[in-house]
Amino acid sequence: MGCADLDYPRKIELARTPTPLQYLERATARWGGDHRLWIKRDDLTGCALSGNKVRKLEYITAYAQDHGYDTLITCGGIQSNHCRATAFAGAQLGMPVHLVLRGRPEREPQGNLLLDHLAGARVSCYPTAQYVEELDALFEQWQSYYAEQGRKALAIPTGGSDGIGVWGYLSAAAELANDMQLAGIEQAHVVCASGSGGTQAGLTLGAALHRMPVSVWGVNVCDDEHYFLNKVADDVADWRSRYPGGPNAELETRVIDGYVGAGYGKAGPEVFELIAELGRLEGVLLDPVYTGKAFSGMLAEIEAGRFDGYRDIVFIHTGGVFGLFPQSGGFSW
Ligand SMILES: *Cc1c(COP(=O)(O)O)cnc(C)c1O
Repeated sequence: MGCADLDYPRKIELARTPTPLQYLERATARWGGDHRLWIKRDDLTGCALSGNKVRKLEYITAYAQDHGYDTLITCGGIQSNHCRATAFAGAQLGMPVHLVLRGRPEREPQGNLLLDHLAGARVSCYPTAQYVEELDALFEQWQSYYAEQGRKALAIPTGGSDGIGVWGYLSAAAELANDMQLAGIEQAHVVCASGSGGTQAGLTLGAALHRMPVSVWGVNVCDDEHYFLNKVADDVADWRSRYPGGPNAELETRVIDGYVGAGYGKAGPEVFELIAELGRLEGVLLDPVYTGKAFSGMLAEIEAGRFDGYRDIVFIHTGGVFGLFPQSGGFSW
C-alpha cells in the first residue's frame, strides 16, 4: 500500500485514536448477504468531546492557536454535534466558544444544547430564515464584536468542513488503511454519513493519496448528490490552496442520495426501528440525524447490489449519540 508523502500541519491531541475497527458478526448474518460488515468506531473518539468532528477540531484548534486566535465562533443547528464538540474542545483548551445556532431554543435545553451550556459556550439562536440568509453577516458581526474587545475570533464553518478540517479524515484514512491491513481486509467499500461534506472529502482524498483499495461513499442526510459532489470538491480545493505543493491524485467522489427522508434531522420510523434493532443485535448505538439514516441507506443499497464487487463494507460510525435524547419520542414501544 503506497503511502503519500504528506506534510501534516500541527494538531492538538483531542481524540482517542486509533479507534477500533470492529466486525459486526450478527449484523453481517442479518443484513450482509455476501458481504462482511465492519464498523470504524469514531463514536469512541471521546465522551462529551466525541464523534467525527473531534478529528477535524484537532487541526482547527492548532491552527487557531498558531495564528493568534483566542476565541472560537462556529455555527449549526440547535442540536449540532459539531457545535457541542467545539464547545468542549474550547473548554479543554481554555478558549472561549461562541455558537451561532439555527432555530428556536428548547424551553429546557436537551441533548447537545444542554452540553453546550455545560461546556460554558455562549449561545446565540436565530430563526431559521434569518440564519440562512445572514449567516456570513452574523459571523462578521460577532467577529467585530470580539475585535472591539481586543480579542481575535476564528470563524469555523459549518461542521468544521474546510481545507483545515480535511486533515482530520485524511489522517483517519491512513489509520483505516492500517486497521484494514491488521484485519486482513484486502478491498472494501467505505460508507459514511455526509452532512457538511468534510468527512467524505477527507476520506475520499485520503483514499486517493494513500492509494487505498477502497471505494468511499457518502450517504447524504441533507441536500442532494449535486450539492455534495461540489462540496467535496470545494473542501479539497480549499485544502490544496492552503497547503500548496502537496501530492496530487484523481478524486472519485461517490454520493448515495435518496435517504434524506422528510429533511435534515427528520427520520422516518424505519430509521428508529433500525437504531433499536442494531442496539439489541450488536450493542452499538446509532443516531437519527446522521448515522441511523446512513446505515439504513447502506443496508438498502446492499440489497440493491450497489456494493457488489468487494466483500467487505466498513461503516464509519461518526458519533451523534446525544442527538438521540431530544428525539426519544420517535421510538415506539
Ligand atoms: C457532522 C456529522 C456527520 C457528517 O459529517 P460531515 O463532515 O459534516 O459531512 C456525520 N455524523 C455525525 C454524527 C455528525 O455529527
